[in-house]
Amino acid sequence: MNPLTTELMRDQVAAAVEEAVARTPISDIHTHLYDPAFGKLLLWGIDELLTYHYLVAESFRYIDMPFANFWELPKARQAELIWDALFIKNSPISESCRGVLTTLNLLGVDVRKRDLNSIRKWFTEWDVEDYITRSMELAHVRSICMTNSPFDEMERSVWEKGFPRDSRFTAGLRIDPLLLSWQSTWGQLLHWGYKVSEELTAHTISEVRRFLGDWTERMNPRFVMVSLADDFEFPAQNECAQLIEKAIVPHCREFGIPFALMPGVRRQANPELKLAGDSVGRVDLSAVQNLCAMFSDTKFITTVLSLENQHELCVLARKFRNLHIFGCWWFLNNPSLVDEITRMRVELLGLSFTPQHSDARVLDQLIYKWHHSRQVISRVLVEKYGDLAATGWIPTREEIDRDIQKLFGGAFDDFCALQLR
Ligand SMILES: [Zn+2]
Repeated sequence: MNPLTTELMRDQVAAAVEEAVARTPISDIHTHLYDPAFGKLLLWGIDELLTYHYLVAESFRYIDMPFANFWELPKARQAELIWDALFIKNSPISESCRGVLTTLNLLGVDVRKRDLNSIRKWFTEWDVEDYITRSMELAHVRSICMTNSPFDEMERSVWEKGFPRDSRFTAGLRIDPLLLSWQSTWGQLLHWGYKVSEELTAHTISEVRRFLGDWTERMNPRFVMVSLADDFEFPAQNECAQLIEKAIVPHCREFGIPFALMPGVRRQANPELKLAGDSVGRVDLSAVQNLCAMFSDTKFITTVLSLENQHELCVLARKFRNLHIFGCWWFLNNPSLVDEITRMRVELLGLSFTPQHSDARVLDQLIYKWHHSRQVISRVLVEKYGDLAATGWIPTREEIDRDIQKLFGGAFDDFCALQLR
């Protein structure tokens, strides 16, 4: 192609950026969705959208009912209470509520009558396979990384039986119980045939590595991952830090996959809210710095939950090429914060990060999470490429396309391919 044909005039740059952000397919590197082979574990549909834990937490700002009574209700009844509190008695202007409506709107569901039962009826016409394809099309997502726990009984049995993989779904090996509650997990490993003891002896460590190796071979995960509390420390004498140092890091190095750390959860701030009861805490990021510095041949990927940690995390990524940062997670997945964080990351890291992951727990959420994120990312990039063009460096269409592909999964693929020798 004649390069002259793709040269843009300065006033065409914004439209080219908007267009590239809108049409570039996304590799979603962290979700809680499942390959359809996992059956009921893949959540979808209006009642699942309404009972998403983000909305449960918000609804209890209005619902005057003991928490325990709410949890005793069937899911459909919970969904009705949330619909009534967050959509009927109050206008649904929070990000999570707006998300349900963006999803329904893009699916073509008429919500003007505010009639939950007619919305439910619309969903009954779908089968799951078609619905996955439709949701991915509308979200413009090309691949979905799952969160896969060998410690989940339902999930475990599907892996053990084996199944033909749906190529759109990749795996992430989630090992929270191993690192966070060794006291209650080692007996489980023993039961599964790994000759571990409570004490982290050399033999126990080698058996933990055998466990990780077996599951890595079974799942072919893109990374090993853990979500950590806000008091995470490394190095430390506790079991979590010891297992990371002696088992997880050597395992990730051996298999050439990153270790994903997601610190900043303050677990069960309100246990009565169950899954919706976790909160946020600032992390001492020297733990991540120490990991990156001590194991420069191991790859780490990190997202942090606290807004106050974001700048420090960006600076860390400038210091360590074995650190890739990603996503605006959970309480940060709001347009004002995604805007601020993405802007800061572009300014400090250029294109060498992954601005967003969906964290979708319900399939349909892919639609709104990516629709909303694309809007914000587009706005930030239009401004940044505009500033670039003002210097006289006018990007071509190909350069813009290349850059957006990096932000939507390419930079992450490049990071995973690093050899770090
Ligand atoms: Zn998640």
